[in-house]
Amino acid sequence: MTDPKFEQLQQRLAEVNNLTKASTLLFWDQRVMMPPGGASARAEAIGTISTIAQERFVDPAIGKLLEELRAFEENSEYDSFEASLIRVTRRDYEKATRVPPELVGDLNRASAVALSAWGPAKEESNFEALRPYLETNLELRHRYVECFDPADETYDVLLDNYEPNMKTADVRQIFEQLKEELVPLMQEIGDAGDVDDSFLHQEFDQDAQRAFSLEVLRRFGYTDDEWRIDQTQHPFMTTPGHGDIRLTTNYRRDDLSSLFATMHEFGHGVYEWGVDESIAGTPLGSGVSLGLHESQSRTWENLIGRNRSFWRYFYPRLQATFPGQFGSVDEEAFYRAVNKVHPSLIRIDADEVTYNLHIILRFELEQELIDERLAVRDLPEAWNARIETYLGVEVPDDARGVLQDMHWAGGGFGYFPTYSLGNVISVQIWERLKEDLDDVDERFERGEFDDVREWLRDHLYRMGRKFSPQETIERVTGSRIDAKPYVRYLREKLAPQAV
Ligand code: ZN
Repeated sequence: MTDPKFEQLQQRLAEVNNLTKASTLLFWDQRVMMPPGGASARAEAIGTISTIAQERFVDPAIGKLLEELRAFEENSEYDSFEASLIRVTRRDYEKATRVPPELVGDLNRASAVALSAWGPAKEESNFEALRPYLETNLELRHRYVECFDPADETYDVLLDNYEPNMKTADVRQIFEQLKEELVPLMQEIGDAGDVDDSFLHQEFDQDAQRAFSLEVLRRFGYTDDEWRIDQTQHPFMTTPGHGDIRLTTNYRRDDLSSLFATMHEFGHGVYEWGVDESIAGTPLGSGVSLGLHESQSRTWENLIGRNRSFWRYFYPRLQATFPGQFGSVDEEAFYRAVNKVHPSLIRIDADEVTYNLHIILRFELEQELIDERLAVRDLPEAWNARIETYLGVEVPDDARGVLQDMHWAGGGFGYFPTYSLGNVISVQIWERLKEDLDDVDERFERGEFDDVREWLRDHLYRMGRKFSPQETIERVTGSRIDAKPYVRYLREKLAPQAV
């Protein structure tokens, strides 16, 4: 059953998608290839294309088509491509048309300016230099929130941009549970977590790191036909189109962290890669939320890349690559070192247990900022007090405290919780996968990852954005989002008696 109006809608959405993908490519080029001199011309080009894409999407003609297609949608199966495309587009359209274009422009400009101020402020550890920009960002977020239903909790409106349909109250409940379990777990691990990982901090040839990472990626499913990897300051993944997945990583000379960053970005990439071809190039053709996305980056980085059986296969190869560094380090010592639990100052270097406490403190502080219970001026003090309570570490300067992340400067209030939600979801999906594939460890020991990847593709990646994040989790796991499996996983893997 088809409807000419549905075809018109598809055609208009395809144009929007193509424009968005063109600007994605400009962005990738800016970060990977462009000489610095191109910065201002590039900003203009990206600005123009994104504005045109936005204008085409909020065009009243799309609203009219969505109205005219209501009966068609009702007569189509909920799971069908047609009904899903209309449902998802209607939600996106209703959100997009609530915000006046001038405000969208103000939000983007303010974030861009604040991001430029963030770099030097962090460099000099000077919070005051960033403070006015953060205040402007917050003020604009209040204007943004006013465009939506006043019945909603303020933070809900912001959270929805990263984790659609998720409510702050639900996040709070999950995080309370994590806090209750993880603070004692961290204390239990205490000194037992103080394992020797000095051999991870030596000099590692960058070409050898690149070759080893690529060997891992190829085992995971990376092919030269559909993937590429480049080097940038901050690792990321982006895709300018179906069958074209671009990863970046940062090979540091003095540790092996890039290997884990590479596996992390592969997880983001393989989610996009696995979206069903029939929905590629439509608004349904990407990962459904940041939380689900992070669940996959964490799966490939931690559940797989920090797994004992993974290293059973790869450690001899790593030793052969770096005989000077690892020749006399046995596999067990290496496994413990890459899973060391130790409270620290910096989120992106944190282990699997303490990472979530870094997120929870950010989630709490940003709600206080948004609700005006905390003034921006008092933020550093509040930050330092809370990190001491949760992690027992003292912040020596704002560069290693409140200035370490770019999210708030970039306007990303409501973004942080998705990292921990991703951790939680990753284990729910993993437990489900292990019910179907009962010899996962034996497969990893043989260096086989294809069946795991294909299971994830069939059960999760294919769906793209057809369903809401919550529906997606339920379809994969049969249950709602739940922190218990994740806490159980951490305890089994990392509590002292388990080590
Ligand atoms: Zn990520």
